[in-house]
Amino acid sequence: TNTAVGVVGAGPAGLAVANLLNRAGIDCVVLERHSRAHLEQRARAGMLEHRAVRMLERHGLADRLLASAARHDTCEFRVEGRRFQVSYADLYGGRTHYVYPQQEVVKDLIGAFLDGGGDIRFEADDVALHDLTTDRPSLTWRDRESGRERRIACDFVAGCDGFHGVCRPSIPDGAVLEFVHQHGINWLSILAEAPPSTDCVIYALHQDGFAGHMLRSPTVSRYYLQVPVGEDVANWPDERVWAELHKRLAVADGDWRLTEGKIVDKRVLDMRSHVTEPMRYGGLFLVGDAAHIVTPVGAKGMNLALHDAEVLVDAFTAYYRDGDDTGLDGYSAACLRRVWRAQEFSQWMTFMLHSPGAGQGDSQTFLGRLAQARLDHLMTSPAYAASFAENYVGVE
Ligand code: FAD
Repeated sequence: TNTAVGVVGAGPAGLAVANLLNRAGIDCVVLERHSRAHLEQRARAGMLEHRAVRMLERHGLADRLLASAARHDTCEFRVEGRRFQVSYADLYGGRTHYVYPQQEVVKDLIGAFLDGGGDIRFEADDVALHDLTTDRPSLTWRDRESGRERRIACDFVAGCDGFHGVCRPSIPDGAVLEFVHQHGINWLSILAEAPPSTDCVIYALHQDGFAGHMLRSPTVSRYYLQVPVGEDVANWPDERVWAELHKRLAVADGDWRLTEGKIVDKRVLDMRSHVTEPMRYGGLFLVGDAAHIVTPVGAKGMNLALHDAEVLVDAFTAYYRDGDDTGLDGYSAACLRRVWRAQEFSQWMTFMLHSPGAGQGDSQTFLGRLAQARLDHLMTSPAYAASFAENYVGVE
């Protein structure tokens, strides 16, 4: 078999590339390691930027999202029991976030692609990339059900297989630059079947470390707790998680209450950032987490993946329609500009929300004081708050 674009990975990046290619009349085949059922229930991100939603809407991919997603225009900071809110939509032209779980985005994109006659090979094992620097790259894999080896030749490969995929490691050593930063902060990430105890995202600074309350749906919420680096999740039985959330999210004024629920997922996240430059090697284009990961602090990962996908398909469209390859040549630079903006913002926010060494007795350090000064400035300076709003809801 032959196709124009071989897409590896059916996460938000791969599925957006596939749908946009389909709408542009460009042939593609998607290879995905997992089953459809697995992808449609894998909970991860949940905050879509205004810009990402408009992009999906333009391509007719946002009907269910627009009908059911909650729109968010405000976030709340808590500092040792005191709270203040930033109405970021008011500060950035009325643009809001849309809270819509990633697995629902994935479900919509799989449905739309298959309805449009798209070709996804689920449960594709041992995917390998070949001849990337020739004009006829190819992909091989083994079909899990039949055990048969398959091969497809293509003009280009879209590497959309996330941070732990096979595409980036297929690039020879030294052919691209890799920027890596370990933030020295771990979060315990908790997903619970609990209705939200708030109508906006809460970021709480506490002397024992950061705590966050994110929204997902009327029945499910996500929480984060800063924990010591290298922490074992086994040290966090459910009772300890709830006790710590109650303590760190507590307010001194008012009667705010945290509603508990059944914890369905609990894992330790190591805050790290990674950027690959350029996001291209020969006929391989890296898209989304395959090319870059940001800390979840600014909620940018899924949004960057969707942006990359749009830029890449615009470039493919110009190439196949007009023989114009300037978009393909400019793909990496166009995406990286946004990626580095998101990295800088996420780092800024990470630094503001975490006391270095929190929970280990030295939260009164110089860096801790700087973080407090930054937050104080956000509370009191409309100009600073406007800059925060622009970055938080996503630069247009
Ligand atoms: P992925 O979603 O990782 O998709 C890659 C796909 O490739 C997967 O389906 C995988 O199965 C497949 N694959 C991998 N290897 C292979 C292989 N060898 N062969 C075939 N297929 C393969 N982002 C936000 O914007 N907002 C948030 O609030 C947010 N919160 C997050 C919370 C958590 C706990 C986590 C883990 C992430 C969060 N993110 C958030 C990040 C976001 O989930 C990712 O940035 C997003 O999934 C990137 O999409 P992607 O398509 O590039 O990669």
